[in-house]
Amino acid sequence: MTMEARCSCCPRGMFITVNLRPGAEQKVVFITARVHPGETPSSFVCQGIIDFLVSQHPIAKVLRDHLVFKIAPMLNPDGVYLGNYRCSLMGFDLNRHWANPSPWAHPTLHGVKQLIVEMYNNPKINLEFYIDIHAHSTMMNGFMYGNIFENEERFQRQAIFPKLLCQNAEDFSYSSTSFNRDAVKAGTGRRFLGGLLNDTSYCYTLEVSFYSYIVGGTTAAVPYTEEAYMKLGRNVARTFLDYYRLNSLVERPLASTPKTRFSGATTSKAKNPQLLLNLITT
Ligand SMILES: [Zn+2]
Repeated sequence: MTMEARCSCCPRGMFITVNLRPGAEQKVVFITARVHPGETPSSFVCQGIIDFLVSQHPIAKVLRDHLVFKIAPMLNPDGVYLGNYRCSLMGFDLNRHWANPSPWAHPTLHGVKQLIVEMYNNPKINLEFYIDIHAHSTMMNGFMYGNIFENEERFQRQAIFPKLLCQNAEDFSYSSTSFNRDAVKAGTGRRFLGGLLNDTSYCYTLEVSFYSYIVGGTTAAVPYTEEAYMKLGRNVARTFLDYYRLNSLVERPLASTPKTRFSGATTSKAKNPQLLLNLITT
């Protein structure tokens, strides 16, 4: 087994490629964070994802055996360096320029988009997930934004991942998750890539509260900590196993995988095709 893990703020970000069969179609999960520099929680969530994926956790090993994760942990490094809240060095909200990023005005965005388009055009690569991590200044909990598609089945299939994540992470709220095609969001990564990628791809904005979360069945707000943000990231990563187990991609290796879960997370109920049906219809 070989492993390449490289992390930097360059547009090509972090690459984790392990143990894939030569010649097999690569299923790719692409994750970006910190396009808005003031949204520091997104970096902790991204850190949790990375820490989990490079760990020796049995679920992480199974994921590395079957998927390619490409992670750009900081899309707006100059804005972060300057302490900007939302803009880049040149004053652009990069998450409104996905449609036509310029190599000189939006270089990180341009580089990441170029990489994604290259993968999209490569018949040996199937880019199945794009998740862009943000933080929200008024909402509680973690939640997602997704897209609206004319294809009803695709629209419903898009709801599966956030529903699975809701089962794994006590701070993630499916009821706060919504799907839209607001004109004001047209230049975001989630909207642009949702229109570009094929029918089996799903693009989400993952939001997490700056402040707190409420666990289902209670009313008390639990303040987020850095550790809680990272735990959400770990739960995002492990949810890919539930998703691909439903799609039978990783059915067999799981038979020998010991049962593990993070403290505070509920056990996933997503273990059979019937549940997939339930998830689609509920
Ligand atoms: Zn944001």
